[in-house]
Amino acid sequence: MKNIKDYNLEELKKEFMAIGEKPYRAEQVFKWLYTTDITTFDEMSNLSKELREKLKQEYSICEYKILKKQESSDGTKKYLFDVLDGNAIETVLMSYHHGYSICVSSQIGCKMGCKFCASTGIPFIRNLTSGEIIEQILAVQRDEKIKVSNIVFMGIGEPFDNYNNVINAIKIINNPKGLNIGARHISVSTSGIVPKIYEYADEDLQCTLSISLHATTNEKRSEMMPINNAYNIEELMKACDYYIKKTNKRISFEYALAKDNNESLEDAKKLVQLLKGMLCHVNLIPINKIENGKYTKSTNENIIKFRDYLNDNKITATIRRELGSDIDAACGQLRRKDLK
Ligand code: SAH
Repeated sequence: MKNIKDYNLEELKKEFMAIGEKPYRAEQVFKWLYTTDITTFDEMSNLSKELREKLKQEYSICEYKILKKQESSDGTKKYLFDVLDGNAIETVLMSYHHGYSICVSSQIGCKMGCKFCASTGIPFIRNLTSGEIIEQILAVQRDEKIKVSNIVFMGIGEPFDNYNNVINAIKIINNPKGLNIGARHISVSTSGIVPKIYEYADEDLQCTLSISLHATTNEKRSEMMPINNAYNIEELMKACDYYIKKTNKRISFEYALAKDNNESLEDAKKLVQLLKGMLCHVNLIPINKIENGKYTKSTNENIIKFRDYLNDNKITATIRRELGSDIDAACGQLRRKDLK
């Protein structure tokens, strides 16, 4: 059956017209789906019984059940959801002073193979549909009785390897009649699939783009991230320049600091050279050690030194707060480990 949450508002209107319904009916349904807690067509009380029956026959409403929920000592919550076909994904809820933020997964598994990331440890199964991406947000909101204000595409999967569904999900998240989360409060992080960075730049979205950089030489980056063999640092930077020119938006570069790997003064200098003059920001992430992983976290002292060097050299850098590491909910720790 078709998942009704796979359609953005324009598409849903077309679907409705195809079954002889007025477009404003689609808008009513859209509002029920994204601005209330309802999980059945029967609760859509401003629709006729006849239409509700018709919808029930055509569409599923895709309501996730929570397989497991864990809470960190810092308040971060991690959900394991059954995506209704026996597969499971993880979603993380973080609470900040400015509101709630959800980290969504975009795929079941990941093909990228980054050596430091736990999501690599599970086989790639399939892309999530846009409705399946969106339902992570709705299920968390229902469970916690909250409205979230920020979405980051930083869970399991490579968002640009599931490009169309991610863009469509963004349209639903961003629609004032849908989840109504402003584009500036939506971030997409990519390991660096260069052609998609160009495409994303041309979308004319106001979302934030994060790039997982992590190293400044091709040798080191390829060792950490196999994607660098397909698109090297030079190609990646060219795409970033294009993005900045096209959108006039700042890029956020993620750089996970690992001991004796990419944390030296030499590395910091190379990073300054690479990013000099670019409209950007560096997000330093203390690397989280994964099972059987060879990378371990830099010391706090080294992380601070690295940050200060960047800031002293006119590259704005901040250290990402580590949230949820005690429940394996921090960066790179998601892997649906409870399902064998
Ligand atoms: N697939 C996307 C989203 C990944 S998660 C991407 O690659 O960008 C968000 C960030 O966490 C990425 O920058 C990713 O490289 C980083 N990350 C992955 N594993 C990590 C780990 N063990 N410690 C710290 N950061 C990690």
